[in-house]
Amino acid sequence: MGLLSEFDQRDRAKLGDEMHRFTADLYPICRSITGNGIRQTLKMIQDRIPLETFEVPTGTAVFDWIVPKEWNVRDAYIKGPNGQRILDFQECNLHLLNYSMPVRATMSLSALKPHLFTIPEKPDWIPYRTSYYKEDWGFCLSHNQMLALQDGEYEVCIDSTLANGYLTYGECYLPGRSTDEILISCHACHPSLANDNLSGLSVATFLAQILSGRDLRYSYRFLFIPGTIGAITWLARNRDTIGCIRHGLVLTCLGDRGPFHYKKSRQGNAEIDRATAHLLRQYSESPKILEFSPYGYDERQYCSPGFNLAVGCLMRSVWGTFPEYHTSADNLNFIHPKQLAESLGLCADIFDVLEENRRYRNLNPYCEPQLGRRNLYRSTGGGAIEAQINARLWVLNLSDGEHSLLDIAERSGHPFPLIHAAAEALQESGLLAIIPETSRGLEEESQENTAHSSGDQSCGSSSHS
Ligand SMILES: [Zn+2]
Repeated sequence: MGLLSEFDQRDRAKLGDEMHRFTADLYPICRSITGNGIRQTLKMIQDRIPLETFEVPTGTAVFDWIVPKEWNVRDAYIKGPNGQRILDFQECNLHLLNYSMPVRATMSLSALKPHLFTIPEKPDWIPYRTSYYKEDWGFCLSHNQMLALQDGEYEVCIDSTLANGYLTYGECYLPGRSTDEILISCHACHPSLANDNLSGLSVATFLAQILSGRDLRYSYRFLFIPGTIGAITWLARNRDTIGCIRHGLVLTCLGDRGPFHYKKSRQGNAEIDRATAHLLRQYSESPKILEFSPYGYDERQYCSPGFNLAVGCLMRSVWGTFPEYHTSADNLNFIHPKQLAESLGLCADIFDVLEENRRYRNLNPYCEPQLGRRNLYRSTGGGAIEAQINARLWVLNLSDGEHSLLDIAERSGHPFPLIHAAAEALQESGLLAIIPETSRGLEEESQENTAHSSGDQSCGSSSHS
C-alpha cells in the first residue's frame, strides 16, 4: 500500500517543515491535564482532522481515580523588592508550577524559597514541575536567577482558578473496512515542551490527516488526552470498544535527533511489537527495542493487567534520559523537521505492515512451481533480482496457512515490503490464495486469540477479502 509512497523525499522535507510549524503554533499554549490550554490545543488539531472532543465533569469516578478540578490561569508573577516583575508567567509558562492554586501574598525571600524550583546542574534552564494531586503553589526559574535574588519583600500573585469543571480530551476515529482497530494515543497536557508532548501530537495529527479518507483494512482511533488521568478516563468510559483494539501505539518524544526506541507492549510478542521491531531492524543494525515496564507513558494504563492491550510506545530519545527532558531546553530548537518527518514515516511503515500482514496458502504445494513459465523467475523491476526471487521462494514455502507475511519476513530476513510484493505477484499468477479473515483477526486464530480482557464485545463482522 505504502501510506507515504506519494511523498517523495522533497515532499517529506516539506511535510517535516509543516509538522514543525504546527508544533510552533501549539508551543506557547499553557496546557495542563484540564483547562482551556488543552481545549485550545484540541481546537487547533480540529482544524486539521475530524476530532471529537469530550468533557468529563470534575468528580467523575474513573476506576480508582477521580477526575480532578479544572485548572485555569490568567496571570502569575513575582515582583521583587524594587516592584519589578522578576518572574512572569506571560513570558514563559514553565515559570509557574503547573496546577498552582491561587495565591496573593507578600513574603520574605526565605519564606518564598521553599516554593521555588531550579535545576542546579543546568543553571540556565527552567524546570517543568507539576502538582496535580496535591494543592500547592510554586514557581520554576533558572538556578542562576535564583542565586541572584536579593533579600527583601516579594509580591507573589497567582491568578488561577482550581474549581469544578471538566477534563477535556479529543478523539479522532477513522473507520476502515473492519471494525478492528489500531489505537494511537498521545498526551496533550504539557505546556511549552516540544519533544515531550508536541512532537507526538504533531506526528499523530499528520498521521490522521494522511489516513483520513483512505480505503483501510483497520479502523484507526487517535486519542489526544491528558497523561495518565486522560487514559484512565478514556478506558473507563470506553470499555465497550476496547475489545476492538488489535494494535496500539503511544507516540511521544519523536522530534529530537536520538535514534528510535520502541518499548514493547506488556504482551511482548504482539503483532505491533514484532512489526515495529522488524522495521527498526531494517532502519538500524542495533535497533533499540525495550522490554515492557510498568513505568513511562500511557502504555501503563493500556497494558494494565485488566486490559493487557497490545499497545507499545514509540519514541526517539527515551523520556528521562536526555538532559533537556522536562526543562525549558525541550523547546522548538530541540525538535527538527527532518526527525518529525522520519517519525511520521516510521509510523506509516508500521501501519503498512499491519494493513498488509495476512496469511496465504500455496496452491501448488507439491514441489516448487515452475516460476520461469510464469515470468516470475526474473526481476520485474530490475536491480535486486536475487532478493526478489528469493522472497518469492520464501513466500511459496511458508504459505502453508500457518505463517503470516510478517512471519516470513522475520524468518527470511527480507524487508516486509519485498515479501508483500512477492505475495502479490504470486497471487496474481494464481499460485497463492489469501486466507480470509474473520473480524477478530486471522481465521485460524479466532478461537485461541480472543483472550482480550474486555472479553465479549463484538466488533461486528468485516467484509473484506
Ligand atoms: Zn512529560
